Order: sequence, then structure tokens, then C-alpha cells
Amino acid sequence: MIQFQGMISHRRAALAVVAKAANAVASSSSSSSSSSSSLPSLSSPTTTTAMTTRGTKAFNTSRCLSSSSCFKYDAPWLNYSYSGVDSTSTPSIMNFIDGNFENQTPPATAAAINDSTTIPIYNPATNQLLSCIPESSSSSSSNTNITTAATPAERAILSAKSAYPSWSQTPVQIRQRLLLEYAHLLHQKEGKTTADAMGDVWRGLEVVEAATRVGSEMLGDSLQNLSNGLDTISYRVPLGVCAGIAPFNFPAMIPLWMFPLAIATGNTYVLKPTEKAPSASLLLVKYLHELGLPPGVVNVINGGRNTVDTMLTHPDVKAISFVGSNTAGEYIHDVGSRHGKRVQANLGAKNHATVILADAEKVSTIKALVGAAFGAAGQRCMALSVVIFVGELEESKRWANELVEEAKKLKVGSGFEEGVDIGPLISKDATERAEKIIQQSIDDGATCMLDGRDITVKGYENGNWLGPTVINLSGEHYTNPQVPITNPAYVEEIFAPVLTILTVPTLDDAIQISNNNRYGNGTAIFTSSGGAARKYQYEIEAGQVGINVPIPVPLPFFSFTGNKSSIRGDVNFYGKSGVQFFTQLKTVTSNWQYAKGTDLGGVTMPVLGKK
Ligand code: NAD
Repeated sequence: MIQFQGMISHRRAALAVVAKAANAVASSSSSSSSSSSSLPSLSSPTTTTAMTTRGTKAFNTSRCLSSSSCFKYDAPWLNYSYSGVDSTSTPSIMNFIDGNFENQTPPATAAAINDSTTIPIYNPATNQLLSCIPESSSSSSSNTNITTAATPAERAILSAKSAYPSWSQTPVQIRQRLLLEYAHLLHQKEGKTTADAMGDVWRGLEVVEAATRVGSEMLGDSLQNLSNGLDTISYRVPLGVCAGIAPFNFPAMIPLWMFPLAIATGNTYVLKPTEKAPSASLLLVKYLHELGLPPGVVNVINGGRNTVDTMLTHPDVKAISFVGSNTAGEYIHDVGSRHGKRVQANLGAKNHATVILADAEKVSTIKALVGAAFGAAGQRCMALSVVIFVGELEESKRWANELVEEAKKLKVGSGFEEGVDIGPLISKDATERAEKIIQQSIDDGATCMLDGRDITVKGYENGNWLGPTVINLSGEHYTNPQVPITNPAYVEEIFAPVLTILTVPTLDDAIQISNNNRYGNGTAIFTSSGGAARKYQYEIEAGQVGINVPIPVPLPFFSFTGNKSSIRGDVNFYGKSGVQFFTQLKTVTSNWQYAKGTDLGGVTMPVLGKK
């Protein structure tokens, strides 16, 4: 609810083209090059130029904003130039390397689509084959000017490496201004799509806006006269080539958590979007280049695990940002760290809400729980998937029944249709897995109060549908916080519209159960007691705590702050931490003497400040 507060209608329209690309998953689920060291004029935002990579193309922020062609949504990354699978026109998805969309050799046959070198993309609402992605780690590309590298992934890294010296020396205010123009451009896009895809783009755009103020976050420290004539200054300097690996569920927002801040701080970037919905990333990076971003500063490579492995082991990659599941993230953190890279990894979740039945406001709390549990088909890392009712068992049953009635009102269907609340799950596999966990949970003794399986959506009979599902683990008995909860619906991150209910007599029990859970991404308490809220806020072990706020995602002035198994690495995404992740400290100690003949040091260890 609060997550999307403040959005107003003209903003919604302005963001919709990018949202349309993002929504592909939800519903089908004369400037000159300058090497001068003088600062460019800050007074004329339409004539800004900057140093460019290899001097081939100037960065002119005025170009796109005056060009109507920038305001159309097309998809130049789709390669239809071959006869395709089974003689149909299934396109393959291109990479974006060194400032160009780049063809990869498409699979020759349907069989090739399912081999390890090519990944199919299906429409989740119909399971129609939409396109396919060749792995960028395989050597299959043509049409590139970095001819010596073996694979597209390696070429993208080399492109970012060669763009780095010039981009990192581009003054920070020029980099900021590019992002300002970028934020403005994203505001201008037109079109229509679902509210959820809009939220995806909007929350990413807020990070771009924050990146336009990065200069003050990059300030270092200084101290003068540490010894006679000796001063020390520290700077925050970029790292070099950084890389990002993104998940499917926010195909615009999460890439926007990554590359804008990385390039604002002077790094260059290689992004691997999700193989399940890569179009939003390609569109976002296309827009950035239409504003004049030099080639190589941001590259996009497609693929799955093989492509990730190239990124994790390549010596020129200095830092990896990952958002996704624990299986992938723990591997990526481990391999990336072993190869000497900085790694930040946001992982899975099982977010617990606690409701104090005696004093929570019932109608609004139930609406908030239903929205946070079932919105986006539960495919949000901040979705509430467990609710702990604190109070009498009989009162808990009344709340549970009302919650079920509210959930029944939600409409399941294609994200492109008006009035739909719950879209499809991302894949057949994800749907079958969720259905299996529901069955295992029932077999284990749980009461399924609302079963979303076997739902049919007219016109989309072959889609990946799962309606809202409510599983009650307490029933006639309180859940004992001293005994580990082993029911599969509680243990697994289902990532689907499935809500598990527990009931306990005290707030202490609810806190203990929540803290015993391995995850600690988000949590929320619903109460009108300040004392209960404060106790909860203080004792709960979760990175993001909502008090009467179901999905407490922090705005980019703060950082996204998971806890326990919901995070690996110790530097958070965006906010001050984000700037720290993409920069390193460099200290310079200087000794300037006015008088000649000063002692500049002997064989013994110097001791500063000692008389
Ligand atoms: P995923 O882990 O399957 O995929 C994420 C990325 O990792 C993709 O780009 C994919 O190609 C790559 N990948 C997948 N398996 C890999 C492997 N074995 N080795 C190397 N790379 C691999 O995740 P998903 O299904 O796309 O997204 C859903 C998951 O992401 C959920 O667990 C959700 O909680 C999590 N998520 C977390 C946050 C957060 O901020 N904590 C935000 C969004 C999503």
C-alpha cells in the first residue's frame, strides 16, 4: 500500500512505455569530444558535452529530449533475421555491447532451444514461445568491433574496460547530469500498462533520481598538518568494471538499482538481466544511449548460469551486484568473492506479519495483508507470506475467515487486461512447484482455507495460474514457538500467492517465531499500541520493519536492508551504502615544504605527531 503511495496519474502515464517492456513478464508475464581539463559550463543544460570513450561519439544530453523518435517504444533487440524455430518467426534476443545491438547466431532447431546454450522465453499467460536467448558465454556472435574476445560476455567486459578510463575521468557533475536527463526521459514515456509494472519502473526511477545527487555522497575527508607540512586527503574513487545479475520479478526496478549508481560514481557496467524477461533492461539501456552515453559504459549481455560464470571469474570485473534466489546468490557470492570481487547479494525471503488482534484496525489491516500477500501473484521479495495472529483462537478464526472473503474478491488474469489483481506465475515449473508445496502442506495436516489451484482463466487456459491460497497451520491450537515449524508451506519460499496463518497467545511468541525463521528481509506489525510497536521494532530481526505498513521498502535516501539469509555481503543496495559499494577510498598524503632542504624521511618508520 505505502509502497506506491504518492504516485499521481500523469506520472503513471509518463512511465508506461518502460513499464510495458517490464510488463512483458507480468502479462505475458553537435557536440565535440573534449579532453580539456577545464570544467564545462554548468549554465546550459542543453549544450553539455563530456569526454567520451575512444573519442568516437560525443555525449550530448540535448539530443534525445528534442527528438520525437526517442518517445516511441520499439524493440531493436529482437532479431527476426532468420527463419526461426520450426520455420516460425521466433526472434532471438540480442545483446547490447559497445554501444550496439549485436546479433547472436540463433538456434537452428527447436531442439537447440532447450539445450544448454539457448534459453526459451514463454508468455506466462499462454505458454506460447515468445523468443529465445543464446548464452553469451558461447562463442556465437558476429558484428562486433572488439574482434579478439572469444565470447559476447568477454567482449562486453572488454568494452566496459576500455570505456572506463575516459568515463571515470568525466566530471561527476556531467555524469549526474546525464542521469538527470535520463530520469527526465523516463518520466516522458507514454503508453498503457498495469499498475504493478508501473510501480516497478517508478521505484527504479527513484534510484536514478537519487543518483543525480551522487557528488555529495562521494565526498571524502581531509586533515591538514598531520606533521609539519604534511596533509592527508581521502577520496572515494570508482572501482572499474562492475557487473549486475538481476531476477525476473522486477525487470526494470532491479537493473535500475544497479547500473545508474555504478556509472554515476564513475564505473562502467555489464548487466545480465533475467533470462525470463530481458526486454526492460535492453530498453532502459537503449534510452541511456540515446542521451549520448559513450559506447561501452553500459553493456547488456543475455544468458543464464554459463554467462554468470564468465562474469564471476573474469579478472577485469571488480564488483558484482546480485538480486535473486538463495541458490544462485550463495553460489555467486562464494565464487565471486573467491575471485577477489566485491559482492553484494540480496536473496530470498519469508516475510512475517504480526497482527495484535485486540487492537489492530481490522478492515484496513485485512486489506493490507491481502494486498501484500497476493499482489504481483506473491512474486515480490517483500510479499507477506506468513501472518501471525496474536490473541484468542476464536478471534483468530474470525479474522482468518474475513481475510479469506477479501482474498476471494481478487481477479486472476492476464496483466494486459483491465481490473486484474493477480497475474500469472512466471513459469509452468514455478506453478507446479507451488501446487506441490500446497499439497505437501495439506498432507502434513494444514487446513487449506482457500485453494487457488485448478483455476481457469478464460481465453488463457494454458497460462500459469494460481489463485490466492490461504493455509492455516494453527486451527484449534496455538503454534508453539519452542517447536520448529516444519510444514512445507511455512518452510519454503513459495514465491506465489500463498499465505500461511499462525496463531499465538503473546507478542513475545510472535517475535520468537519470526526471529527463528532463517530469512529476515521484511516484516510488519499491525497494532494501535505504541508500546507493542516499539517492542517489536526493537526486538525483531528483520532488515526492513513496517509499523502498520505492509511492504516497508525504503526510498533511495536509505538503503534496501535485508537481514540473516536474505542477504550476503555487507554493503546494501542504493542509498549511502550503494555509493560505498561502487567506490573505494583512496588516501593521499602530501608533504609540501616552503623551505628547501627538509628531511623527507629516513630508514626508520616515520612517527607522525610525536614531539
Ligand atoms: P534466480 O536466482 O533464479 O535468478 C536470478 C538471476 O540469477 C538470473 O539472472 C539468473 O540467470 C541467475 N541465476 C539463476 N540460477 C543461477 C545459478 N545457479 N548460478 C548462477 N546464476 C544463476 O531468481 P528469480 O527466480 O529470477 O527471482 C526470484 C528470487 O529473487 C526470489 O527468491 C526472491 O525472493 C528474490 N528476490 C530478492 C530480492 C531482494 O531484494 N531481496 C528482490 C527481488 C527478488
